[in-house]
Amino acid sequence: MSSDHAIGFLTIDVEEWFHILDDPAVPDFRQWAGLESRLQRNMELLLSLLDEYKVNTTMFWLGWAAEKHPALLRRCAEAGHEIASHGYAHVLAYEAGREKFREDIRHGKKILEDITGAEVFGFRAAGFGTTADTPWLFDEIRAAGFVYDSSVFPAKRGHGGIADFNREPHQMDAHDGSLLEIPQSVVEVCGRRVSFFGGGYLRLAPIALIKWGIGKLQESGLPLVVYVHPREVDPEHPRLPLRLHRRFKSYVNLRSTVPKLHWLCENSKFELMRDYVKQF
Ligand SMILES: [Zn+2]
Repeated sequence: MSSDHAIGFLTIDVEEWFHILDDPAVPDFRQWAGLESRLQRNMELLLSLLDEYKVNTTMFWLGWAAEKHPALLRRCAEAGHEIASHGYAHVLAYEAGREKFREDIRHGKKILEDITGAEVFGFRAAGFGTTADTPWLFDEIRAAGFVYDSSVFPAKRGHGGIADFNREPHQMDAHDGSLLEIPQSVVEVCGRRVSFFGGGYLRLAPIALIKWGIGKLQESGLPLVVYVHPREVDPEHPRLPLRLHRRFKSYVNLRSTVPKLHWLCENSKFELMRDYVKQF
């Protein structure tokens, strides 16, 4: 896996511990400002871990979080991490609808660009919320000025997910030009697509399985896309009273994230998505 030809991206969806989706216990936008913020501490931990290995990541920042932590955002950019967008208010595209989604992603991009003074190229939708029901989504992402997108989870999933989507990074035709899609990593096991590379999947899978999965990706010539959230390096963060299924997925094995990140940084090579897209 440390082969020179292996392509990998370590990505972080930069948001707070309460930015979980799809459960009635998740606080509403109007409540966010009154909740405890743990982003600074969690990002400090991630930044120092990454610095230890000189690994640069692609960070998909939520515009709302950037507004609250402009100095932290600038620090991430100055440390060599790519600043990409995770929208403004963590809206699920298929719930928000086209107009509201458009407004949200343009607002989120502008906030990041105003604070850092640099152009933002990449986008990732909240909850990988692309489904077959949002055919307008890529047109809107391209029209907002993004060059690439990393919103597709090419397997079945709770919210979002397009089960038969092309697993390779590829150019997609959008209304205003083309958009490079870099889907999340999934491997085929017994005819089913599964992930061991992000969120609850990464926390649940033992390292041996993750390693096997990375080998399978390489055999298929696919890049490794890893995604983590700041709350996942913070096992002590407050818990929301989620339904059983969401609770398990959101909180299982939180103590395993940091050791797995150490292992990944030591054994994989990661590049920035914005550098990778230049070759297309
Ligand atoms: Zn998110």
